[in-house]
Amino acid sequence: MNVVVCLKQVPGTTQVKIDPETNTLIREGIENIINPFDTYAIEEGVRLRERFGGKVTVISMGPPQTEAALKEAVSLGVDEGILLSDPAFAGADTWATSRTLSMALRKLEPYDLVICGRQTLDGDTGQVGPQLAEMLCLPFVAYVSQIEEIADGEMRARRMVEDGYEIMGSPLPAVITVVKEINTPRLPSLRGIARSKSASIAVWGVKELNIDPGKVGMAGSFTRVIRIFSPQQDRRGEIFQGDLESQVDCLVGRLKDDGLV
Ligand SMILES: Cc1cc2nc3c(=O)[nH]c(=O)nc-3n(C[C@H](O)[C@H](O)[C@H](O)COP(=O)(O)OP(=O)(O)OC[C@H]3O[C@@H](n4cnc5c(N)ncnc54)[C@H](O)[C@@H]3O)c2cc1C
Repeated sequence: MNVVVCLKQVPGTTQVKIDPETNTLIREGIENIINPFDTYAIEEGVRLRERFGGKVTVISMGPPQTEAALKEAVSLGVDEGILLSDPAFAGADTWATSRTLSMALRKLEPYDLVICGRQTLDGDTGQVGPQLAEMLCLPFVAYVSQIEEIADGEMRARRMVEDGYEIMGSPLPAVITVVKEINTPRLPSLRGIARSKSASIAVWGVKELNIDPGKVGMAGSFTRVIRIFSPQQDRRGEIFQGDLESQVDCLVGRLKDDGLV
């Protein structure tokens, strides 16, 4: 069974700064991590290989430093990492990101399953998984919390919905996004760490993907970030004086005045 996992490297902090000129993240001096949901995608890929044999490949579109995340994935048990990196990919919106990833996936055919995280910590749109399925004309199951069975070219998966779960059947190959309930990611093994140190990560750019530079990155994006800002919070605290009873009276009176009770 051949599995491809899509991994994004994200800032390991919520204290990110935005470049006011370009409206993109200032990535210098920030520790980067594997997007947390993607660690579950990696673990599921490795478990499927352990059950059925085959190979797990991890791909990521990002700047050169994303290589570290791919090597970490190797230490967690994946067989091969491929970095999609090219100046032409910079400034991609989710559409252009999915387009680049889909071109890499076409090059990696045949595979049985593409696994993405449900969303990222930074972009947070959850759009890449479903867009990939659409671009590759493959079936898609979102929010998978368990792959119950894989047999005869079919998959049965449990997906989380707001008030419970659904069991979905799908032919393979398919694209899924996973939630954290699907497994408990392992820690890297000593053997894995040693393997990751010597692993060579292939780098594919516009040439290797045979892709028009005008269809990727900022040039191939349909959306533009006009402005990014942290919302201003205008909250004033007020401390009531006196004994507890009069404080409660004060509070209730204030809520009544404001029409809140
Ligand atoms: C105009 C514009 C400019 C932007 N410029 C930049 C920029 O310069 N640099 C930048 O980093 N972001 C930039 N972004 C944000 C970027 O579009 C998104 O971060 C990216 O498209 C992925 O979307 P997301 O983070 O919401 O992923 P989601 O859809 O939330 O991710 C779901 C899953 O898809 C997979 N996935 C997502 N992204 C990748 C990836 N890159 N490689 C492999 N797998 C992936 C992962 O499995 C992930 O768990 C820009 C956005 C806009 C609109």
